[in-house]
Amino acid sequence: MEILRPDTLSEALEMKAAHPGARPIAGGTDLMVELNFDRTRPHEIIDLARVPELREHARSNGALRIGAGVSYTRLIGELGDALPGLAIASRTVGSPQIRNRGTVGGNLGTSSPAGDGLPPLFASDAVVEVASVDGSRRVPIAEFVTGPKRNALADDELIVAFHIAPADGPQQFAKIGTRNAMVIAVCSLSVHLWPRERAVKACIGSAGPTPIRATEAEALAAGALDWESRAPLSAATAAEFGALVERAAQPIDDVRGTAAYRHHALGVLARRALTWTWNEHRGETA
Ligand SMILES: Cc1cc2nc3c(=O)[nH]c(=O)nc-3n(C[C@H](O)[C@H](O)[C@H](O)COP(=O)(O)OP(=O)(O)OC[C@H]3O[C@@H](n4cnc5c(N)ncnc54)[C@H](O)[C@@H]3O)c2cc1C
Repeated sequence: MEILRPDTLSEALEMKAAHPGARPIAGGTDLMVELNFDRTRPHEIIDLARVPELREHARSNGALRIGAGVSYTRLIGELGDALPGLAIASRTVGSPQIRNRGTVGGNLGTSSPAGDGLPPLFASDAVVEVASVDGSRRVPIAEFVTGPKRNALADDELIVAFHIAPADGPQQFAKIGTRNAMVIAVCSLSVHLWPRERAVKACIGSAGPTPIRATEAEALAAGALDWESRAPLSAATAAEFGALVERAAQPIDDVRGTAAYRHHALGVLARRALTWTWNEHRGETA
């Protein structure tokens, strides 16, 4: 196996164009597992660790552009205030060692429905920037992830960055696992409030072939919440929101949990996450 080590993004893109079958490696926390279990045996690996452009983040015109190679640890430390939902999700990823190496770009590359970075990106309508030697294009996150571990990346492309709006209100991420850390989600949920748009965005993880936006639940909550007076959330709205999130999920039975359990758990997470975010918006501690 040949290890290619570009020093710049343009070098990396040239290598990918010359070797479309090459597998990029960022933190390696997914790819090394695949290699160790002999699930993949590429002729070339492109090591992105030395590409400075992938490790940068910046704010322009109010939006954030975050390099694909920014680790979870840096994201929590450097962007946690602007992206609280993604930071909460990042804190649940693996262990400190995994968070030091692992990247959101790698989570996007793998496109697992259980990837914890993905529901917060969906609940923020993030846009993925991909590039090849022919130029770059931007793909909305919901079009980027096309199926379980499948995405819209062409063979000659790399994920360069993602674009995401900084939070405009409270954001939550809740995950169910069989223990508290180092665990793949049985199911998860992101709920983001966008008070300026008077919108609620909710995305389910690990209960369908891709992360799933619970659009009926979002519309119900956005219409029922009293954005003017910030009146308390009614028990009926919380219950209905929970039921609609539960209904939006498309889980299967697998080794981590049954479909029935996932439906039930998502209803509980939804009621809690909406209550936490709305109470925070009202100025109460959850
Ligand atoms: C012990 C352990 C615990 C874990 N716990 C969690 C968890 O709690 N939650 C969770 O979501 N994940 C978890 N993971 C999985 C993994 O850490 C994450 O998916 C992480 O985001 C992968 O990032 P990475 O940089 O290590 O990716 P890599 O392994 O380097 O790459 C992952 C995939 O993306 C591709 N890729 C990487 N960068 C690019 C790029 N710039 N352009 C195109 N393709 C690219 C690679 O070719 C590969 O297919 C865990 C893994 C381990 C080993």
